[in-house]
Amino acid sequence: MASSFPNVSELVARARRLYGQVFGEEAPQVAVSAPGRVNLIGEHTDYNQGFVLPMALPLVTVVVGSQTSGQDVSLVTAAEDAGGPLRVDFSLPSDGSPLSPGLPSWANYVKGVIQHYRAPPVPGFRAVIASSVPLGGGLSSSASLEVAFYTFLQQLKPDDGDKVSKALACQQAEHTHAGVPCGIMDQFVSVLGREGHALLIDCRSLEATFVPLADPGLVILITNSNVKHSLTGSEYPTRRRQCEEAASILGKASLRDATMKDLDEARDRLDDVTYQRARHVIEEIERTVQAVETLKRGAYTEFGKLMVESHNSLRDLYEVSCKELDELVSAAMEVEGVFGSRMTVCSIPDQGRGILVLPTTTSSEKASQDHRNHNFTSKMLNLNSPDNNSNS
Ligand code: ADP
Repeated sequence: MASSFPNVSELVARARRLYGQVFGEEAPQVAVSAPGRVNLIGEHTDYNQGFVLPMALPLVTVVVGSQTSGQDVSLVTAAEDAGGPLRVDFSLPSDGSPLSPGLPSWANYVKGVIQHYRAPPVPGFRAVIASSVPLGGGLSSSASLEVAFYTFLQQLKPDDGDKVSKALACQQAEHTHAGVPCGIMDQFVSVLGREGHALLIDCRSLEATFVPLADPGLVILITNSNVKHSLTGSEYPTRRRQCEEAASILGKASLRDATMKDLDEARDRLDDVTYQRARHVIEEIERTVQAVETLKRGAYTEFGKLMVESHNSLRDLYEVSCKELDELVSAAMEVEGVFGSRMTVCSIPDQGRGILVLPTTTSSEKASQDHRNHNFTSKMLNLNSPDNNSNS
């Protein structure tokens, strides 16, 4: 990872300063953090009950705050690009009625988490958010915000601590309050992510397996193409519908259960486009399984080849790439030492922002230092000793 972003201690310091400016001298009692993520492989497989292989990033969202005596909530974000006022105040319904989404829209992620918190009712509180995850850049700033807030509420009023339920509650928050029908990947990896590991998630059983990824000679580079290429309005639902149609023609509950043999046998009952979409999904699920095997063996050349195949399939069969991304992938593959490159896409509407992931052989002392010194999981932070907030 490139390193021009603040670490957790710096974010906590920034949030504490802002807390002091907005709420007076009083210091916050609690600080928590949760990471953003990038998906290494397994694209458009989540809603087909397949596998995904994300990893948590050293980019995190931090929340600092304190419980208050009443039912009032005050939220402030340091993210100037969040849109709308950066402070919002509202009351928690005392009669148990739901918290409605509203404006500013960024606060809806928090309202959703309050609504779906698993040990209600939550007390009133004041909180400040500071994040190093770019907003709307495909690195799951929203999931890291939800998970950080859930972790914050756990400090005020503990739930049973079940991590899978925590991720599911945060996903629900995004569905009901942000109106985004996301899969489970982002919240899952933000809750469970572990330093030096990718996370294989089975989106059918919700089983999660850690895959070691800590070779000091390996660098993962994420590049923002700065091209806003959207799977807008109808395109994302259309892809989902095509997958469902293909599964139904094959007589399967989902494409997770289908093989290429099944698909080829049903070839004349599928139109060309539906066939192509299904082929991408079936092969991508298989590629993700293979990718895990290659990582376990340290076979990075094979892993990189799978990434490129994934990209080509997203370009040609699923048709969600664009020429700028294709160019970037080609350019990256011309660089000596690069194992693989591909676009990543969010599996939600309007978010097909282009980002590339490039594992390379180039050893970088700075990169591995950054890797050691950041948080890769949601956790409570020690406010009295900010230096203890790293994972080193
Ligand atoms: P992504 O999750 O990929 O970054 P989304 O569009 O799903 O992109 O979520 C981005 C939205 O999440 C922002 O527009 C904002 O509403 C909210 N958000 C994320 N992080 C913050 C933050 N630190 N402060 C306020 N809002 C945030």
